Amino acid sequence: MPYQCDLGPGQRIYLDNSGNTTQITLASGGPGQQQQSSTQVQTGTWTEAPQVARVASGVLIRCVTAQGTFLWQVQGMQIGAVAAPAWPTDRGVPMQPVGAIPTAPMPPMAPMAPMAPMAPMPPMQMGDMHLSANPMTMTMGNMTLSMGNAATPSSAPDTPRFCTQCGAAVAVGDRYCGHCGHTLG
Ligand SMILES: [Zn+2]
Repeated sequence: MPYQCDLGPGQRIYLDNSGNTTQITLASGGPGQQQQSSTQVQTGTWTEAPQVARVASGVLIRCVTAQGTFLWQVQGMQIGAVAAPAWPTDRGVPMQPVGAIPTAPMPPMAPMAPMAPMAPMPPMQMGDMHLSANPMTMTMGNMTLSMGNAATPSSAPDTPRFCTQCGAAVAVGDRYCGHCGHTLG
């Protein structure tokens, strides 16, 4: 179980014991401006809760394991092993158990949301003009323009015909274009 100790405004020590490793994490700063540094030491498994003590030169941390007693000194964001000074028993304070050590303040990039596929174009109605897609068809009054697979045989009797020479509309039964005189097939 991880332990934590509040050292002062925005500064904390976290200790965790995983297997034979003690992880010491120093965190300082406020939200959005956090610094965190971690040190891992082979200590063995804790046999009692870690303690901290304030001393003139900083903060001391003590861990007791089956392998012995380990001491570290913290000064600012620096941490270093201490060669077994006398533990200030009268000033030692057990650290508080904490649910989890917060991770370093580096929010992962949110993955890009995939582009939504283009919605099919809804039919559009403007006045007497009607536009729809697939096949692209535009209807304006009684005139219909279409593209794509809406082609119909030009010889169909009910299909409007156009002069192949000038493009003028011609009646289905006309033999000659009334506009340019072209002979109609
Ligand atoms: Zn014509």
